[in-house]
Amino acid sequence: MNNFTYYIPTRIHFGKGMISHLSEITQKKILLVYGGGSIKRNGIYDAALKELSDHEVFELSGVEPNPRIETVRKGIQICRDNQIEAVLAIGGGSSIDCAKVIAAGAVYEGDAWDLVMDNEKVHGALPIYVVLTMAATGSEMDNVGVISDMDLQIKKGLHSDHIFPTMSILDPTYTYTLPKRQTAAGTADIMSHTFENYFTNVEGAYLQKRFAEGLLKTLIHYGPIAIQDPTNYDARANLMWCSSNAINGLLKKGAEVKWCVHGMEHQLSAVYDVTHGEGLAILTPVWMEYILDQKVDAFATYGINVWNIDAKKDKRTIAKEAIEKTKHFLFDELGCPRTLREVGITDEKNFQAMAEKAACEGSFVDLSTDDVIEIYRRAL
Ligand code: NAP
Ligand code: FE
Repeated sequence: MNNFTYYIPTRIHFGKGMISHLSEITQKKILLVYGGGSIKRNGIYDAALKELSDHEVFELSGVEPNPRIETVRKGIQICRDNQIEAVLAIGGGSSIDCAKVIAAGAVYEGDAWDLVMDNEKVHGALPIYVVLTMAATGSEMDNVGVISDMDLQIKKGLHSDHIFPTMSILDPTYTYTLPKRQTAAGTADIMSHTFENYFTNVEGAYLQKRFAEGLLKTLIHYGPIAIQDPTNYDARANLMWCSSNAINGLLKKGAEVKWCVHGMEHQLSAVYDVTHGEGLAILTPVWMEYILDQKVDAFATYGINVWNIDAKKDKRTIAKEAIEKTKHFLFDELGCPRTLREVGITDEKNFQAMAEKAACEGSFVDLSTDDVIEIYRRAL
């Protein structure tokens, strides 16, 4: 196991009715950041404003899935014009990520895109508060905000300890209204975060791997239940807590390798505006098959410990069966799209340029530009 420093300053309030903690926010001038209006339709907006009756609340709505730098700039302008003291995101990863980069940009003199491109320039941020409405990204408990510049075709994460949320409210009942498609995409995203941490070359990180297997089993058990029965509290609660724990460092620290499937997916989102979790669902099994021969033991362990495949079988058979089970889960049980064609990508014309940006060294298996092109091709 490698050396590590583990630091999470985020206070989590988990469970029904925990939105009452919003009234504890000490800053009085708040920018509320949210998306296309689902929080107005399901009542979360009203519940939040009720708790903030002692606060002065400004609003930035319309944050797009795959949030854009232009929206971040709008939010920063509102902060500057009104001496905003804190930012509150209500929504999924898109609203949270947008709020995080607004919070960092509001205390930076230059343009916020500088911070995305060079994280060393982040020297502070306004306090960030979160009400989570979707189990997926883990942004509620991490130090990352992913932002896109569609003109430059770049989607990139801002990583900085300054953008950990101060407080996140995780009420599983707030995810009851999430459509099946988003529940599936969110579950696929959490699964991918877990895989990116689980498939590591670091020796001796036994505990982290067993944690990861616990998360994977939980996703496999509760993902389909949440799809079939959207108001099942235990399903929503378990998915929500998986979301945070897949990415808050618990699985990664001491075992870290570069994440390559996310890198490949970010290109799909940046160029084609693909839904993040769906892009990951399409690429993950293709990536597994592509690297299988180099990593038979790791995939066999995954098959035995996560899918309960008979350990007496030969390792390659177990590994292949495990990948088949992963496909069945993502495509048949969750209902995620299987191919790039299904999300509207019908030809290879951008693959070279995308692969140059997504090639990855220092990951579980290094991927060259040619490797990435081949993975995109097989995913078509
Ligand atoms: P999202 O883009 O925030 O939301 C997806 C859709 O679900 C939106 O249309 C949203 O509607 C809707 N929605 C959310 N909660 C709902 C609810 N309770 N009821 C009904 N509809 C609801 O999805 P996400 O997957 O959480 O975030 C994706 C973004 O996060 C991507 O840009 C991805 O790259 C990024 N990401 C970040 C991290 C990180 O560590 N920070 C990690 C992985 C991915 P509204 O627009 O109305 O809210
Ligand atoms: Fe992700």
